[in-house]
Formats: sequence, structure tokens, C-alpha cells
Amino acid sequence: MAIDFEIPAETRAIREKVRQFVDEHCKPAEEELEHRPVKDVIDDLRVKARAEGLWCPFIPKEWGGMGLGPLANALVQMELGESYLGALALNTQGPDDATMLTLLQHGTDFQKEKYLKPLLNGEKRICFSMTERAAGADATGMQTRAVRDGDNWVINGEKWFSSAASVADIALVMAKTDPDAPRHQQFSTFLVELPNPGYQIQRNIKTMAVESLIGEKLGGGHAEVHLKDLVVPHENLLGGQGQGFNMGQHRLAYGRLRHGMHNIAMAQRALDMATEHVINRETFGQPLSNRQGVQWMLADCAAEIYKARLMLLHIAYKAEKGMDLRQENSIAKVFLANMVHQVVDTALQLHGALGYSQDTPLARWYTSIRSQRIVDGPDEVHRWTVGRNLVKAFREHGTTATACGGDLI
Ligand SMILES: Cc1cc2nc3c(=O)[nH]c(=O)nc-3n(C[C@H](O)[C@H](O)[C@H](O)COP(=O)(O)OP(=O)(O)OC[C@H]3O[C@@H](n4cnc5c(N)ncnc54)[C@H](O)[C@@H]3O)c2cc1C
Repeated sequence: MAIDFEIPAETRAIREKVRQFVDEHCKPAEEELEHRPVKDVIDDLRVKARAEGLWCPFIPKEWGGMGLGPLANALVQMELGESYLGALALNTQGPDDATMLTLLQHGTDFQKEKYLKPLLNGEKRICFSMTERAAGADATGMQTRAVRDGDNWVINGEKWFSSAASVADIALVMAKTDPDAPRHQQFSTFLVELPNPGYQIQRNIKTMAVESLIGEKLGGGHAEVHLKDLVVPHENLLGGQGQGFNMGQHRLAYGRLRHGMHNIAMAQRALDMATEHVINRETFGQPLSNRQGVQWMLADCAAEIYKARLMLLHIAYKAEKGMDLRQENSIAKVFLANMVHQVVDTALQLHGALGYSQDTPLARWYTSIRSQRIVDGPDEVHRWTVGRNLVKAFREHGTTATACGGDLI
């Protein structure tokens, strides 16, 4: 089979359109955020995006999206990530995006009508409440309980780091429904309408990320939540009793890749900024860009971004063909989180004190992307899985090639 990196003409055209939209509308709108209400800025962008047919890229056309397959979506997301308004403008922001997929795949007709449609239409937002103080990486340690009471379920417990809960109209809450079932079948997922007296947001947790009111309003922060006698109708149980864990993993799988796609865009923008800066900045009588040491720093970033692009394209290819990509997804999740960290760190270094200041986005990016080595499964847990698969592959085939991207190459 030929290896073909030619991007179909139609996909190239869509990518170009999105690139222009980001350059012409999203990047300039970032500055408007300083003096206009966030909602107005996003609403305006969304009107423009929809008028150009740019909306919910990976959602099927019959549901109002662009119907893009994995490759085209990956290419589009790599453009959107260049502006922190890009994904919001096209209603493809996390954590909503992965939940849209879950609802499409697992929702009942009632749930799709009532909850999915307004999400797809950009009228509502949804958050995902799985992690607790008690359990994160090993989500099966969750303590929150849901108990059936006639036509309802009553949920009690706590959640934390529920991203965007403060701006969400719906929460997807995971809770233990079947304590005696096998460990991975003990949990179910519920659609909870917000605000709700039983879903009590205690605070947005202060993190190491550079504080910004705009960032908080855009992303909604990461909430700590008390669940106190939260009543949820049985019809809001999503995907069937005991299926919460499977569905959680399903949504995380897309989320991991989306972070990766946006990481490539962010890293590219950081490298562009670094390169422009070293061309213009002189020290000791010469532009920084003349120094071989600086060129090496840029070259190392280029190598990281190149590897990242190839990984994502390979994964997109496998997804297009419906092939198993769990191993590659874990490898890429870890690589892409570290890659963006390294590139942004280099860009910050080359900007000197300016990079450390908040006069460029680099400091904000630097402190926010540190979380990516923890969210959606910490590095160590993915590397554990990858390592186990390597051992298994060697035992089965006498080589690890199939478990490190070599099954096709
Ligand atoms: C910015 C941010 C946003 C988030 N958004 C959401 C959200 O919207 N919804 C949600 O439900 N959750 C969210 N989370 C929570 C996130 O999914 C968890 O933080 C993550 O799963 C890790 O869980 P933990 O923090 O409890 O760490 P723990 O499970 O306590 O693990 C701590 C550390 O131990 C190490 N470790 C754990 N297990 C192993 C192992 N088997 N082998 C080796 N080392 C190991 C890792 O280094 C890990 O970082 C978010 C977190 C952050 C930081």
C-alpha cells in the first residue's frame, strides 16, 4: 500500500477556510475580550462562523455539523488551536465536544432531543463530573453514590476539577450505582440540569495557571462540587446502568486527541513567535537568529512539532480506517503534552524577561499546559498501559513493532 500524504483537495480547502477564519476573526477578537463582554465576542464569532458553514466540525451533517472525518477534523482542529477563541467560535470546545459524541452514540431519542440539540446549536454548554478528591487516575475509586428511588435517582457525594461547571447548563455526573457489580460496571452516568439545588458549586479551584478573568469566563474554571440529595429522573440515565465507566473512557479518548491537536497549533504559534523574536532581537552586536545555539533550539522545537504532526496524522489515518488506535492514542497523549511544554518553554526562554511577563501569551500558556500531563490520565498511567502492551506484543509476536506504530509501517 502506498504511503500518501496528499491531503484531498476538498479537505485542503476546508483547512484553508478555517485558517483564514482564525486569522481574520478569532485572533483579532482576542483583543476585543479586554473591553467587550466575553459572551458578545463569542456570539459574534459564532454568527460569522455559521454564515461560512463552519460549525461543529466532526458532528454529522444531519445533526447540523460539518460531517468531517477524523483526518479533516484533525487538520481543522490544528488550525483552531492557534487562537483560544477558535474552538469556541465553531462550538467544538472541550469538554463539550467529547460529550456531544457520547450523546450521539449512547443517548436515547429523548436525551438527544432535550440535551444534545441545544448543545449542537450552541445554546447550552455541558461539563463532566467524574474526578473526586477520593479518586482521579483510578476513577473506579469514586465514592459518589446514586440510589434508585422510584422514577428517580438520588445522588450524594462530591466532585472536583469539573471543568466549565460554572458556565455549564448541564452536567454529566458519574456515580456508583451497583456496588456489588464487577469493578468497571459499578458506575453510571447521569444528565443533570443546572443550576440545581443538589449540585452545589463550592468554588472554582485556584490553580497554578496565570489568573485571568477572561480565561475563567471562557473556560469556566475547574469547580469543586458538593452533591447533596441530587434528584435525577431515571430517563436521564445515559447509556444504561453500569455503563458509566465505558462511556467515560470513550469520551476521554476523543478529548485526549483534541488536546493534542490544539497543542500542535499552540506549539506552532509559539515557535513562530520565537522565530520572529530572535530575528528582530540583537544581543552582543548580532541578531539572536544568527547564533547557532539559538538555531539549535529552534530546530529541536521543529523536530518535536514534526513528530507530533506525523503521530496525529497516523492516528487520524487509523481512525479513518476504523482500526484500533488505543496504543497510539496513549503514546501520543503523553508525547503531545510534553512536546507543547518543551516548545512553549523554549519560546519563553528566547523571549527572555518578555516571555516571563504577561505581555505575551507565553506565560499563560506555560502555566496552563502543565495540566496536560495530568488530565485525561497522567503520563505515568498511559506509559504503564503502553509498556504493558509492549510486553504483550513481544510475547505474542517476538517483536514490539505492532505496539509502537509498526503494524502499518
Ligand atoms: C486542569 C484540569 C482539568 C480537569 N478537568 C476535569 C473534568 O472536567 N472532569 C473530571 O472529571 N476531571 C477533571 N480533571 C481531573 C483529572 O482527570 C485528574 O486530575 C486525573 O485523572 C488524575 O487524577 P488525580 O488528580 O486524582 O491524581 P491521582 O490519581 O492521585 O494520581 C497522582 C499521581 O500519581 C501518579 N500515578 C497515579 N497512578 C499511577 C500508576 N498506576 N503508576 C504510576 N504512577 C501513577 C501520577 O503521577 C499521578 O499524576 C481535571 C484535572 C485538571 C488538572
